[in-house]
Amino acid sequence: MARLVHKFGGSSVGDIRKMRRCASRVAGVIADGNEVAVVVSAMGDTTDELIDLAGQVTSEPDRRELDALMATGEQVSAALFAMCLRELGLRGRSFTGAQAGIETDSRYGRARIKAIDGTRLEEALAGGLVPVVAGFQGRAEEGGVATLGRGGSDTTAVALGAALQVARHGGSCEIFTDVDGVFTADPRHVPDAVRLPRISYGEMLELASLGAGVMHARAVVFGERHGVPIHVRHSQHHGVGTMIVKESPEMEDNVVVGCALKTDLGRVTLRKLPATTGIQASLFDRLATGAVVVDDIIQTEFGDAASVAFTVEHGDLGAVKALANDVIGQWGQGEVCIDVGLAKVSVVGVGMRSHAGVASRMFRALSDVNIRIHNITTSEIKISCIIDRSEAERALRTVHEAFGLSELGNMAGIASGGNPSVQPSGTTG
Ligand code: ADP
Ligand code: ASP
Ligand code: MG
Repeated sequence: MARLVHKFGGSSVGDIRKMRRCASRVAGVIADGNEVAVVVSAMGDTTDELIDLAGQVTSEPDRRELDALMATGEQVSAALFAMCLRELGLRGRSFTGAQAGIETDSRYGRARIKAIDGTRLEEALAGGLVPVVAGFQGRAEEGGVATLGRGGSDTTAVALGAALQVARHGGSCEIFTDVDGVFTADPRHVPDAVRLPRISYGEMLELASLGAGVMHARAVVFGERHGVPIHVRHSQHHGVGTMIVKESPEMEDNVVVGCALKTDLGRVTLRKLPATTGIQASLFDRLATGAVVVDDIIQTEFGDAASVAFTVEHGDLGAVKALANDVIGQWGQGEVCIDVGLAKVSVVGVGMRSHAGVASRMFRALSDVNIRIHNITTSEIKISCIIDRSEAERALRTVHEAFGLSELGNMAGIASGGNPSVQPSGTTG
């Protein structure tokens, strides 16, 4: 008997018919002698609709109240899913995140899980109940209901997989979604993307952080840290999916395993700053205090003036502009300039560590199709280029082709596993 966490995303439980099908799948796995804890996302576009409702009240909703509102989407799904299980003769029991013992910090809208007390879920499983946990939420230190950031139900699932020790019980955390697994690129944008039978936690974390929305990045961090095997699969048919696993030496045979796109980025440039010690510290301390996520930083100096540029998501631009102006006021010199409409295209693979020429292949491919690169950042296993938003999808297809990713299923280091049909449909709930 294995113990599993089954997580169903928004499109998989988008209506009652689909939800019943997912419940039958859980019932089948239990009938085979396994224990299952379920995690659900909000139905279909519910989270977006709740955000729209708040927007009808105020353009700047209080973050704590917005979280209280958004968390209800997953609670509706949990109760309905438990009822679907009961219709099938199982003892489904819904839990909010807080009831399931999930404790978070108080950063409403992007909270992090601090601890999980799995006692109530353990008791439920021992008593023959099938727990159905509302994803994406927990009890904040401050006392309210906090959400974990968009796409955060994956993190609930993997964190519960760790708390319930699924690996020790021979199981895994199954992420059921609307595609057949993790692909070499988003199959919505790259029709010849292929499914990867397996991928390392490190590669998946980079891809997720760089825009591959199929997994929430924090979920991958939990999986690696606590040794939870993660299996990404289609919820409506029975393909073999993708296993996210520890890195093994033959994985370095493939230079690049995937590419990803992040859109809606803006660039903030602070010019004519005094070229003096401490300026970067004061700027980035302020951004960190404001919980702004910054990447792609470049600094240049001409004589006694310095300039610092970095990219942030469009949604953070207003706050960043105000903070940057404060810093300039404090140093008595400089100006702020904002560019919008940027995107980031990235390639990822652990094989980059041992193969040369990856960056030049990417830059050449983009230059051959006349795509201008505004900025470049690299890590040990990724290369990212900032480009114009209007070129984003074309750039993604270009790098996918340049690295021959549609052939990847046939290459060394990747176990073959076929490529079941891609049926992307619906949206994140
Ligand atoms: P869920 O509602 O199940 O959480 P998401 O919409 O969050 O589903 O994630 C699934 C979507 O992720 C797919 O429909 C696909 O368009 C997108 N996606 C982005 N990058 C990838 C990738 N590399 N592989 C597979 N899907 C991807
Ligand atoms: N419902 C939340 C969202 O749309 C969380 C999730 O689906 O994982 O972001
Ligand atoms: Mg998701």
